[in-house]
Amino acid sequence: MQISKTDFIHFLNCPKSLWLLKHKPDDYSHGEFSDYMKKLTAEGYEVEGYFRSLLQSQADAERYSFQSIFATERGLYAKADAIRDNGDGTINLYEVKSSTSVKKNGQHNQIKDATFQKIAAEEAGLSVSKAFIVHLNKDYVRQGEIDPGQLLIFADVTSEVAEAEAGTRAEIDEAVQLLGQHEIDESSCSCLCQTKPNHCDSFSYFNPTIPTPSIYSLPRISKAKIDGFVADGRFDLDEIGLDEVTEKQTLVLRSAHLGQPMIDHAAIAQFFNKAAYPIYFIDYETYSSAIPLVDGARPQAPIPFQYSLHVKRTPDDMELLHVEYLAEEAAMPLAMIEHMQSNIGPTGSLVSWHASFENTQNKTMAKLYPEKADFLHDLIKRTLDLEDMFKDGYVDIAFGGSTSIKKVLPIIAPDLTYMGMDVASGTDAMEAWIRLINMPECPEKAELRQAMLEYCKLDTYAMVRIFEEMERV
Ligand code: SF4
Repeated sequence: MQISKTDFIHFLNCPKSLWLLKHKPDDYSHGEFSDYMKKLTAEGYEVEGYFRSLLQSQADAERYSFQSIFATERGLYAKADAIRDNGDGTINLYEVKSSTSVKKNGQHNQIKDATFQKIAAEEAGLSVSKAFIVHLNKDYVRQGEIDPGQLLIFADVTSEVAEAEAGTRAEIDEAVQLLGQHEIDESSCSCLCQTKPNHCDSFSYFNPTIPTPSIYSLPRISKAKIDGFVADGRFDLDEIGLDEVTEKQTLVLRSAHLGQPMIDHAAIAQFFNKAAYPIYFIDYETYSSAIPLVDGARPQAPIPFQYSLHVKRTPDDMELLHVEYLAEEAAMPLAMIEHMQSNIGPTGSLVSWHASFENTQNKTMAKLYPEKADFLHDLIKRTLDLEDMFKDGYVDIAFGGSTSIKKVLPIIAPDLTYMGMDVASGTDAMEAWIRLINMPECPEKAELRQAMLEYCKLDTYAMVRIFEEMERV
């Protein structure tokens, strides 16, 4: 069976998941190849284009060839973004990445990528002298046309690849051996002893008897605690005692035991005591791309392009004021800041969900525009995070152990939903915006604009409704 570099990285992340994909593709949950994934793929090609043009402009351009394939007898398959024929019987390998550094940990270890390429190239009869990861320069600031020489950094990873080689060869052998097996133990998988963020979409395939909710719904549960529960064969929250969990987990557990939300009125009151009218419910959308879109932007650095604002002027205000902004062209966010300045007054609280996101954008914009720093820093000081209330003030097992607005809203205000919206997430909005700004004026563009405005508006209206429901609580 053929093993590509992508398969090998998949193997490193989870051998069983790769086996399932290769042997039982119908049972493997592929997930959706979303428009956002298409955006990332297109960006990867764009970066590769600049890489190619840079090499082709060099004095030794004729030494480079692109998309070279190495296929080995035992099935290894790799495609190098470029190789350089050094003229002495050796080649250099180049792997282009859309990251702003060489990633050495986590789900995608780029050193392993390059090492797999080297091993495949050498098994195919070539001799590799050097290996490079070509990544984006995070300090590059676009001014006019993209300068590929400034945009790209060639990181020489030859020695790291050499260090990783023996281990990677052993791992490749294991992968070949595993994929050669027609059967494996499918009765469970190692994520049984891992926290929920580690689980992939195949968790329920390998562990079909685990109930929902389960021990994995307990927030910030430690691996040691999971190990203990797994050893006892206890997965159902009804089998877990209140004295076995932390104080924060107690709330979720009690909610599961009683089948109702756990409410700490003092914690909720604390939030409302801090809130001052008028209250500005605000949400930003941001765009980031491998290739900076406009002058002043850096690779992969987010640029806010849209915001929605619902203003509740007094506690009894039944007619909310709604303001929105959506950039119609690629631009740095100065016009958006000025729009906010004319709609957000000098007093009152701002309320966001997961406010660290909005505050990070405010800090970044303050650095970009020092003349706006006072305004933006004042916004940060006045911002309250509505999500905090759901960490200890109002905890419901129905949120599935999460405090995301997408989990809280359907329980607190079930008449409001993101379901069926053309733009239904931040990544959808990001992808929609790039289409919007590149589209000529037409009915389709008007529909897209409307879908984007509706999505962002729902984000802030959802906060108003949750705020009001909590006020009643
Ligand atoms: S849930 Fe974890 S161990 Fe199980 S298949 Fe997915 S990644 Fe692998």
